[in-house]
Amino acid sequence: MLLFPMISLYLVSIALVAVYWSAYVKTLNGSGYTRTSLLLCVAMCFYILGYAMELNSSGPPQIEFWNRVEYIGIPFVSALWLTTSLLYTGHFSRHKVSLAAAIYLIPIVTMALRFTNDYHHLYFSSVSYVKEYGRLILMKKTGPWMYVQTVHSMLMILVSMWLLIRDSVKIREGQKGKILLTTLASVFAIAGLLLSQIRPFGFVIDYMALCLPITCVLVILAVARFDFLGTKSMARSRVFECINDAVLLISRQEKILDYNNSAKRLFERMGIHLNNGYASKLFDRVPGLLEGLQKDGKSVVKIGIGDEERYYVIITRSIDEHQATRGWIKILRDVTKLYQLNSELKKQAMTDELSRLNNRRAFIQLGKEWVSKANENGISLHLSMLDLDHFKNVNDQYGHPAGDLVIQRFGRMLKQHFGADSLVARLGGEEFAVLQPGLNDDDILQMLNSFLESIRQYEYIYCGCPFHVNVSIGTTRKRPCQTLESMMLCADKALYQSKNRGRNCITVFDS
Ligand code: GH3
Ligand code: MG
Ligand code: MG
Repeated sequence: MLLFPMISLYLVSIALVAVYWSAYVKTLNGSGYTRTSLLLCVAMCFYILGYAMELNSSGPPQIEFWNRVEYIGIPFVSALWLTTSLLYTGHFSRHKVSLAAAIYLIPIVTMALRFTNDYHHLYFSSVSYVKEYGRLILMKKTGPWMYVQTVHSMLMILVSMWLLIRDSVKIREGQKGKILLTTLASVFAIAGLLLSQIRPFGFVIDYMALCLPITCVLVILAVARFDFLGTKSMARSRVFECINDAVLLISRQEKILDYNNSAKRLFERMGIHLNNGYASKLFDRVPGLLEGLQKDGKSVVKIGIGDEERYYVIITRSIDEHQATRGWIKILRDVTKLYQLNSELKKQAMTDELSRLNNRRAFIQLGKEWVSKANENGISLHLSMLDLDHFKNVNDQYGHPAGDLVIQRFGRMLKQHFGADSLVARLGGEEFAVLQPGLNDDDILQMLNSFLESIRQYEYIYCGCPFHVNVSIGTTRKRPCQTLESMMLCADKALYQSKNRGRNCITVFDS
């Protein structure tokens, strides 16, 4: 009779397919569901090969031995199938100990009870041998725990089927075939379980062992054809791990759900070891960063890493499901170089190259702020305009570079004399301005006079030729609600008067 050799051939071929599949799965990335599906293949091999060996055993001790080998795999097939489905659909995290216990407790007990069945008969209530088609077949009567294991397995398969179908429906595109194969695979598994219990036609074969290979092939087809263990999702997780941006996945309760390698490295450099804790606790030492992470839109934060200060832009993408926000993806991008370049460009745009003082644009921009602050606070503000006397003669007599040297030196002296509390600028050519807050008229005049005197005495030397350059000054005090433009007009008028009075002097604007 060819029945048993054919069944054995069928089982061994499926086991080979499962082994091949395990090798393929092993080449995929090491994410959770590829590892559990690998274990699933191993469990199936124990079951299927064990049963093939059981069928081909000649005496009771051998049959008993191979039946036990089967039970290293049998109880875990549906449990691993559910774990794979849970991981694949994102419902299982490494830390859900209680869920793992609910799935694996019964299979572990089943295995233990099967191995010790001779002492309690809780799994098989009795075991006997019958001859069928000339072969010795193990006849098992269902014990109470076997019902528990069967219901548990059936539930696991049903939940897996529901999870995978729900996931396929959510993705929609091109998923019909996947849904069909998944459903069929689950139907065969359930049919195997039921047939093993009912045993129709009085045939004592293990129907589950016959049906499970079909389930196995259908699952493999679904995986291979419809990207179950997905190249796409694999690629996505690779991108997640490899990008330079630090990425955090945060739940609505601000719990860190996941993070990539860049995030791990970045926070380690800050002395923070990422885990699945709450953001508020993990980042309590870096309030600026925490605030940035809690913001909805885009924000820039300054983070101290060792002795360095670095700038990060935080981009937020919400994870929405069924029109409800489940959490957020926070992308932290290092923009330090851009930030430094930007501030360097800004500085250059505001600085006069020759004198290293503020240029006209900076003076107007900052001066307006100083004027409105003075108007708000009622503090005094003086503006002085300074113009070098007969500067054209310097160029004519000593050359343009000598004129440049004068502008450089004069700018330096101006800055030194009026100090950091003043806004000092080169407005253009040989014309300068000084804005001074919080001083009275006498203080201002005293400072201007002493500056005028030091300029009078300063000797420029160019190519060994010593010479002097004087300066004329016009100064004005801000009237209530006066604008910067109006103050500049007044100071300019006063400067014009100084020029008319013979230069090298100070004129206070008199309205
Ligand atoms: P006044 O006493 O009436 O101010 O006479 P002045 O010669 O100083 O004024 P004027 O406006 O006739 O000439 C200004 C000169 O300043 C003309 C220009 O060539 C020179 N100048 C402007 N900017 C620069 C500069 O960056 N470098 C040099 N070397 N010269 C400059
Ligand atoms: Mg001049
Ligand atoms: Mg001038």
